[in-house]
Amino acid sequence: MSSQPLLPHQRTDLDRPITTKRKLILTTILIPILLIGGIIWVSIKGDGLPKDDLGLARYYLKGSPVIDGHIDLPEFARAFYGNNISAFDLNKPTKGHVDIPRIREGSLGAFFWSIFVECRDDNGQDFLNPTFQVRDTLEQIDVSFNLIEKYSDTFAFAATSDQVEVAIKEGKVASMFGLEGGHMLGNSLAVLRTYHKLGVRYMTLTHSCNNAFADSAGIFEGVEERWGGLSKFGRSLIPEMNRLGVIVDLSHVSDKTALQALALTRSPIMLSHSAARHFNNMSRNVPDEILAKIGRGKHQVDGVVMVNFFPVFASSKPEEVDVAYIADEIEYIVEKTGKHHVGIGSDYDGIESTPKGLEDVSKYPYLFAELIKRGWTEHELSLLAGGNFLRVFRGVEETSRKLQKDGWKPSQVIYEKRRDLDPIGWEL
Ligand SMILES: [Zn+2]
Repeated sequence: MSSQPLLPHQRTDLDRPITTKRKLILTTILIPILLIGGIIWVSIKGDGLPKDDLGLARYYLKGSPVIDGHIDLPEFARAFYGNNISAFDLNKPTKGHVDIPRIREGSLGAFFWSIFVECRDDNGQDFLNPTFQVRDTLEQIDVSFNLIEKYSDTFAFAATSDQVEVAIKEGKVASMFGLEGGHMLGNSLAVLRTYHKLGVRYMTLTHSCNNAFADSAGIFEGVEERWGGLSKFGRSLIPEMNRLGVIVDLSHVSDKTALQALALTRSPIMLSHSAARHFNNMSRNVPDEILAKIGRGKHQVDGVVMVNFFPVFASSKPEEVDVAYIADEIEYIVEKTGKHHVGIGSDYDGIESTPKGLEDVSKYPYLFAELIKRGWTEHELSLLAGGNFLRVFRGVEETSRKLQKDGWKPSQVIYEKRRDLDPIGWEL
């Protein structure tokens, strides 16, 4: 083995001995100048950190940018432009809540692109009426990939926690896919596996309608339950999600569905965009009973509750919702679960109104400034910004690896009400 250092020392002028004359210049002129300069610097700048809360929030977010659990940019592309990505420019202000300059201003370092198509409540009692939902879901995955590719200076597709971290370190916005509703699976675990191959890393078990797997919370009021929580088929879905490494997302589901999924999952869970029911008694919001189940104690499941910004969910008086109100909600969830279980899931581009002071993705620092005012430390803010989500994601990846190592194979369970896969039994 060579004893050479990795970077051989280059002999330069710096290696020459300092002459006595130079020493004299150093001690009599340079050192006093440096000392005085240093004193002036320290008295102006203190410890070098910005003195105002907003400046400090921006400074902290540079190191630990926001990882948002739910942004409807793909839905924005579909609803306003029929998914034609040449019809709008993300480098310029959009009429939504998201564009690249505002992403940069708000220190958004990663987000889940919400893959969403409407669910139907006229899908038949057994959810067997044919729909175009799988086609439309594939179109939403396609438009997301197209945008990531078109703006590849900004976005980097990420399918693992490591890829998220690498993208952030490279100054890119890590782009993950989350599926908003089991109705998009067409009653098929094979479709789930295929979406996973396309990068989907979480799925809310329902959207606002019941589906073959589970009952929904509805939106503004509950819907009549079909299964009493998870269906028999839904009980096969959870282990398959655990095996694949698709995070079980309990936003949008009924309380019974959430409690049963918590009892069944082997992996950590998330609520990608939920408000607290304590503040607004709406079925779509997460109740204390479920918050109590999230944690790392006995009989709890590790998870992250990412707080939704939609004022209509947050409060029965939406016009009163502002930065301080959202901070109150975050602190309430912390009171119930601890600072290791909270995150941000704004729902930007998917909501018709926003809190005062949190109008778009450029405004996250104002929320962090509010929490600094309330005494949150840099470390606690980094957990809220994205640290908690990354821990959950790693936990899900770890369980997936373990289950596959233990020999778990792709589930062969088929929705019992389907008849199209019944063997035909022709003569060979
Ligand atoms: Zn939603």
